[in-house]
Amino acid sequence: MTAMNRSDRPLLNRRLAEFGTTIFAEMSALAARTGAINLGQGFPDTDGPEEVREAAVRALRDGRGNQYPPGPGVPELREAVAAHQLARYGLSYDPGTEVLVTAGATEAIAAALLALVEPGDEVVALEPYYDSYAASIAMAGGTRVPVTLRPHDGAFRLDLDELRDAVTDRTRLLLLNTPHNPTGTVLTREELAAVAELAVERDLLVVTDEVYEHLVLDGPGHVPLAGLPGMRERTLTISSAGKTFSFTGWKVGWVTGTPALVTAVRSAKQYLTFVASGPFQYAVAEALALPDAYFTDLRESLRTKRDLLVTGLTEAGFGVFRPMGTYFVTTDIRPLGESDGFAFCRALPERAGVVAIPNAVFYDHREAGAPFVRFAFCKRAEILEEAVTRLKRLSS
Ligand code: PMP
Ligand code: GLN
Repeated sequence: MTAMNRSDRPLLNRRLAEFGTTIFAEMSALAARTGAINLGQGFPDTDGPEEVREAAVRALRDGRGNQYPPGPGVPELREAVAAHQLARYGLSYDPGTEVLVTAGATEAIAAALLALVEPGDEVVALEPYYDSYAASIAMAGGTRVPVTLRPHDGAFRLDLDELRDAVTDRTRLLLLNTPHNPTGTVLTREELAAVAELAVERDLLVVTDEVYEHLVLDGPGHVPLAGLPGMRERTLTISSAGKTFSFTGWKVGWVTGTPALVTAVRSAKQYLTFVASGPFQYAVAEALALPDAYFTDLRESLRTKRDLLVTGLTEAGFGVFRPMGTYFVTTDIRPLGESDGFAFCRALPERAGVVAIPNAVFYDHREAGAPFVRFAFCKRAEILEEAVTRLKRLSS
């Protein structure tokens, strides 16, 4: 598939050559082609709150956001983000200088890396990592240094010594993600404290992807890294409306951090999209002010779906890592006599009429991820039940 120009040079530059089509696009296309149940790409199969949808319609009709919104985001949304960080976490950010609205978390991640990383800088990221991290690090000319989360007592856990060893003089930043996609791991307060200590000791910047902040399903709620001692001044926090409000297509994200960090991200962001999602920004500003009951109900509903899928996959013979957060459950296919997640996922629509994601795509150490497969549970209960019924046929 490599097109050549007159000098026989590959069309796609070296930085992007290793990245083909994203696994999510590939697997959603496979689901569409085969009619299989799509538990691959993480998007809910029902939209978010009606009043938020209506708020978008109102903004559109009232002509708010139909022309270029301000580069940093509409003031209403920046204020709502700042109010959210303060009310939920006691973190105070100035909406004028410390909040930036982006085209989803994806652009925030890309812009942060493009702004902060020099070619040759090392970026330490938890492996498995969300797929856009690798591509964004590559586009920034950085070198990724994965620290592998390993199965331990039924969950993927961070080895703090390994993290410490991964930091070198060339390390520019830590790229963190909690709650973690695809494993469903939520870093404990102790783990976060150790990360913070390391960042302070080695004077590192930290970019923390907290898009699943409202989807911590067990235990105490989300702990933002920026709230730990010494972290506010070195941490860029990224979040997004997609998962919190079940509107993944709206692509409204944001970063919070010091004026210097946020200005750096804006420098890159203004030449990527400049601005995006005008009317949706107003709707998300209203969504962030929804009463607590909305957030509690969201978690409650996802907890039920999580439990349904965890139980079903266990009964179907998978090894199951019960997730503490996110939309996803990671499974081990070895109890089914399988070892290659890629082959398993490619054959699954045919074998069982279900689509899942092979975790190996999120690894540099592909062999470490080979037997793991991710299923999304952000779907209606009847869909999950049907998927489980189908998957049970694998072992019968
Ligand atoms: N980070 C993680 C960990 C994700 O799972 C996703 C997918 N929602 C994103 C970032 C991208 O978020 P957005 O759709 O807001 O760009
Ligand atoms: N974040 C979603 C997931 O992990 C996918 C987003 C995308 O398709 N890029 O499934």
